[in-house]
Amino acid sequence: MKATLKTEYTIKEICEGFVYSELEAKGLFGLNGNLTIQPEYQRSYIYNDGKKDVAVIESILKGYPIGIIYFNKVGTGKFEVLDGQQRITSIGRYIKCKFSIKDDSGMEQNFDSIAKNKQEKIMQTKLLIYECEGEEEEIKEWFKTINIVGVALNNQEILNAIYSGEFVTLAKEEFSNSQNANTEKWKAYINGSANRQHFLEKALEWVSKKKIDDYMCKHRRDTNISELKNYFNSVLDWVSETFTDVEDEMQGLDWGRLYEEYHNKKGYNPKKISEAVHKLYADYSIKNRKGVFEYLLGGEKDTKLLNVRIFDEPTRKSVYAMQTSKAKEKGVSNCSHCAMGHNKNKIWKIDEMDADHVSAWSKGGETDIANCEMLCKTHNRAKGNR
Ligand SMILES: [Zn+2]
Repeated sequence: MKATLKTEYTIKEICEGFVYSELEAKGLFGLNGNLTIQPEYQRSYIYNDGKKDVAVIESILKGYPIGIIYFNKVGTGKFEVLDGQQRITSIGRYIKCKFSIKDDSGMEQNFDSIAKNKQEKIMQTKLLIYECEGEEEEIKEWFKTINIVGVALNNQEILNAIYSGEFVTLAKEEFSNSQNANTEKWKAYINGSANRQHFLEKALEWVSKKKIDDYMCKHRRDTNISELKNYFNSVLDWVSETFTDVEDEMQGLDWGRLYEEYHNKKGYNPKKISEAVHKLYADYSIKNRKGVFEYLLGGEKDTKLLNVRIFDEPTRKSVYAMQTSKAKEKGVSNCSHCAMGHNKNKIWKIDEMDADHVSAWSKGGETDIANCEMLCKTHNRAKGNR
């Protein structure tokens, strides 16, 4: 593969004939039609957040470098942007007055309203561009390693580039399309966004049992995505049928693994599950609500999933006995909080008290006898809810 550094391209040349598609959220062409800004394997334009796009223009006006841009030579005088399409699209959109920047006095200024000398400064700014030539595979492999400027591509975006083809195109139509009405439902269970490929990544992760790379390689030439789509829908249908409530903590759980592990087990009653979820959610001693769902799927056995703050029975009994005999000697309540307040002399029975962490569990306090104090239920609850 050959890479040639070009230092004479001006923004004016690069943005000659710039076309931006609002519909696809993509910069399409530059260099008078000879530059494809956003090849298929590139993600959508994501700099239009009023920060990154503005930063590109402000950098240029201040004379700061905006980093190296990579073109892939695809024919005589024809190029695709390998890396730098977010920056080029930002510049092109600014020149086309698609957004504005604030000047020194805080006024919003688009390209047409800034001073002529500033316009010239932008247009005459030279960009550092590497023109690369080589085999497709070679360039894509290299692309994986040069991806060091701008917002880094995430794993899935890189895989989409490496395995670009009809399968990826179809998969992106389904999972990377923010216009797809299903994304709202997916968001309840999956963290992330359509345009950064997070839903596609989950769908692939689930169907491939976390071997996304292998799966994409194997299915690269497929002309349908039925298996991917069906499996994804099976997982989410199972989740939403089993857990009829949608809780915030469900977002981002490893639903693919939970589906594999539990979907063949019978006897989940959605109504009872819902009641159990509510009961566990109301229990202040449960520190890990994200664990509630697997705990219920597993038959309410693995309390480690909940990070519950509890002391075992021998500890409670032993602490109760020590505290109570000391309290009786002193003639005060066996609840230290009561002893300082209204029930100064009250001796509670063991079943009227709860074990409390002296040093809070959440702050690293151990669930052991040295960190255990029995409090009356009222005071324990008051402390737990703080
Ligand atoms: Zn008390």
